[in-house]
Amino acid sequence: MSYAQRVAARRRAVFLRRARRVAVIALAAATMLVAEVSLISQLVDRGEAAAVVREGAPEAPAALIPVPVIEQVEAADPPEGCAADAALRAKDPAALMKAFGGAAAMHAAVRAGDAPCVSLDDPALPWVVVNKQRPLDPIHYAPAELRVPPSHVTDASLRADVVDSFEQLVAEAANAGAGSLSLFSGYRSYDTQVSTYDSQVGARGQQKADALSARPGFSEHQLGLAADVVACGAAGCGTIYELGGTPQGEWLAQNSWRFGWIIRYEHGHTHATGYEPEPWHLRYIGPELAAVYHEGGYHSLEEFFGLPAAPDYR
Ligand SMILES: [Zn+2]
Repeated sequence: MSYAQRVAARRRAVFLRRARRVAVIALAAATMLVAEVSLISQLVDRGEAAAVVREGAPEAPAALIPVPVIEQVEAADPPEGCAADAALRAKDPAALMKAFGGAAAMHAAVRAGDAPCVSLDDPALPWVVVNKQRPLDPIHYAPAELRVPPSHVTDASLRADVVDSFEQLVAEAANAGAGSLSLFSGYRSYDTQVSTYDSQVGARGQQKADALSARPGFSEHQLGLAADVVACGAAGCGTIYELGGTPQGEWLAQNSWRFGWIIRYEHGHTHATGYEPEPWHLRYIGPELAAVYHEGGYHSLEEFFGLPAAPDYR
């Protein structure tokens, strides 16, 4: 295919994708009312829950909103030596993206199954996908370096190299008049998850434990790339469950992508992610890829990379 044909094909694809998105938005709006009722009852149920272990709730039965079918942008050819250089490139995500000609081209290649050097499993890479079907590999992975960001309410930490982007996000939210944000929970070690999960199983049995807490090795928090945030004001900081209705929560939903963070568990996408909506749970994927995610209108990493839905454990 010539360059001109590729450009024409891509423009056509973008037009189709936009048209389809309008249809999907209309459908989503119609089904939103049903999902809203379900969400409200879930939130009421959550009232007494311990703050940290409340992630990993079961799939909402009313979550029938379809994943938008996004027209595939033609993928760039993978760079020379893509397969052979996998180990080397994995250590330098920025260089890998550049070799593809940018984040959008790399993303399209991954979706097309034409990027053998782009691993979605390597827990050190910012675009790794962890869900109920995809545990961390290795299961005991821990980031090389962690840091407690200045904006924190507990001694929660994040991977050291994403702390600056988190602080930029916090500063920009304040500058924009949205108010103050703080990190409530970040990195959780495998061992911490084991003890949390085991005590839940001991107290309630496995079925209820699975509804309350991610199984050890299946939580994004083990990457150091997930941040549970709370809104703070003159009276102190709220809980994670209170973030959604605040100006901070609104601002994050609109702007976090600009700093490399996405809202990982959105309303209406439980069937893909396996998690009820968590407006407080931010996931770092890097600003370049987050821009592609935002501009493409995606709502889950599963959808973004064309992966199977992960509603539950295998
Ligand atoms: Zn979280």
